[in-house]
Amino acid sequence: MNSTPTGTARFLPERVRAADTAHLWHPYAAVPGAERPYVVTGAGGTRLSLWSEEGTYHVVDGMSSWWSAIHGYRHPVLDAAVRGQVDSYSHVMFGGLTHGPAAELAETLVALTPEPLEHVFLADSGSVSVEVAMKMCLQYHRSTGSPGRRRFLTWRGGYHGDTFHAMSVCDPSGGMHSLWGDVLPAQVHAPEPPAGFDTEPDPLYVDAFERLAAEHAGELAAIIVEPVVQGAGGMRFHHPGYLRELRRIADAYGLLLVFDEIATGFGRTGELFAADHAGVAPDVMCLGKALTGGYLTLAATLCTGRVARGIAGGEVPVLAHGPTFMGNPLACATALASVELLTRGDWRGDVARIEAGLREGLAPAERLPGVREVRVLGAVGVVELEAPVRMGEATRAAVEAGVWLRPFRDHVYAMPPYVCGPEDVAVIAAGMVAAARASLGEGPR
Ligand code: PMP
Repeated sequence: MNSTPTGTARFLPERVRAADTAHLWHPYAAVPGAERPYVVTGAGGTRLSLWSEEGTYHVVDGMSSWWSAIHGYRHPVLDAAVRGQVDSYSHVMFGGLTHGPAAELAETLVALTPEPLEHVFLADSGSVSVEVAMKMCLQYHRSTGSPGRRRFLTWRGGYHGDTFHAMSVCDPSGGMHSLWGDVLPAQVHAPEPPAGFDTEPDPLYVDAFERLAAEHAGELAAIIVEPVVQGAGGMRFHHPGYLRELRRIADAYGLLLVFDEIATGFGRTGELFAADHAGVAPDVMCLGKALTGGYLTLAATLCTGRVARGIAGGEVPVLAHGPTFMGNPLACATALASVELLTRGDWRGDVARIEAGLREGLAPAERLPGVREVRVLGAVGVVELEAPVRMGEATRAAVEAGVWLRPFRDHVYAMPPYVCGPEDVAVIAAGMVAAARASLGEGPR
């Protein structure tokens, strides 16, 4: 799948640079930005072609475009799915209309996700699917006679998106809260559970979490967490046993349980969904990112029949949400193709191979002074430093080593496309080690 990347002659890199600098916002950035982003001139298989004033680079993508491009770039099956749908219809409104790609996708997602999840809301981004999940929970309680249950219980260190309700359940020590604390809805933030996929649940932690749930029970609508892997909030792993405790606590105090599987869904942690590590079913589940194999923007909020019936029985029996691009046929057709490609292939073997390759390739980082921890789970590898990553140095070192990485805070991390072969994974791991060294002020070795 390492086809040669192609570019588009129209978009000359120098002109892209000028227009970008003049006009474009980038994620979490200022305009005009101090950072000069690499210009993408092509992508194919596991590779990206990048241009900067210093040169052109053909790099292995260690980021899957933020957890999404699990099948790599320009995959013939996904390309064909997009083209095929363009030949039928690209977009139609979803109010009063429905179509094959959305209906079949819903059926497929319900079949793959934990048993009681039955209904699917097709949102247009992960953050919106979290808003919808939170709205579902609030509306459920309103409709079933508990309108006072308006708050959410989460644990610290999470990330759920950049819209306001999603921000309110992100880590309260992060930038979101320091900037917006005075306008965010006040939620209940428990401490983070002890980290480590293999670290058995701490009964003292579980007791403290339960006490918080009991104390606030009358005002809580739901518990919301990222299961097993906290992604953009700190790349921390947790024992799946905590999910079983959350299920028990939610049931004991009348709370709904929401799993945000936007980053972890579709095999990333070694199970199809992170909830599967624990055999636990949430009441509401958010999916996104890898849903379309990274081709188009689509997310989904699934809920149980109980939640849907609760909402339907209320004074306002409808879920008041309906984005213009809800159920976009191009995105749904591509998602369907991507999910089928994944589930018909050996994704479990691919992810296990990447996990083994990352473990082996990242071993040298464990011995670097200034490295706090190296951890790997499924197709996620993390080198956590003791100090914030020096972004410019780290990114440049990775690109020079032939890898695209986007470190954040204290973390150099990768979540490669599943189509990466052993050589690609070795290159990614070596690039991560080079990035960590560069950030720590060491020259290449
Ligand atoms: N939840 C989780 C767990 C995420 O990782 C992200 C994206 N990083 C989001 C929600 C928000 O998704 P989006 O960026 O598509 O709005």
